[in-house]
Amino acid sequence: MATPNESPKRTPQMLRGSLVTLRRRCGKPSCRCADGGAPHEAPALSYSENGRTRMLTLADADVADVAAALDRYRAAQSQLEAKANAGLVALANQIAADRAAGRRPRRGR
Ligand SMILES: [Zn+2]
Repeated sequence: MATPNESPKRTPQMLRGSLVTLRRRCGKPSCRCADGGAPHEAPALSYSENGRTRMLTLADADVADVAAALDRYRAAQSQLEAKANAGLVALANQIAADRAAGRRPRRGR
């Protein structure tokens, strides 16, 4: 059972996209990033939606969970790909076997 004070896991089980570091200047003249100082860095999730690149700025504390969700997505994706490839092999073998047994005439003549 979860402890009552434990914050709920907000990160989704799976995410697609890639982790990037955003660098930007905030525009405040008094800030350290003004006058050529180092820009602010923030972790972000970059992903595409309808052909456009979108960006979600993350808290440092979320990065590990987001990375894990990206890994789970990649793993699930390659499993799916492997299953579909095995399906293609099975279908090709079945068609070849049926043809060899004369059960499936070639199209046309
Ligand atoms: Zn700044």
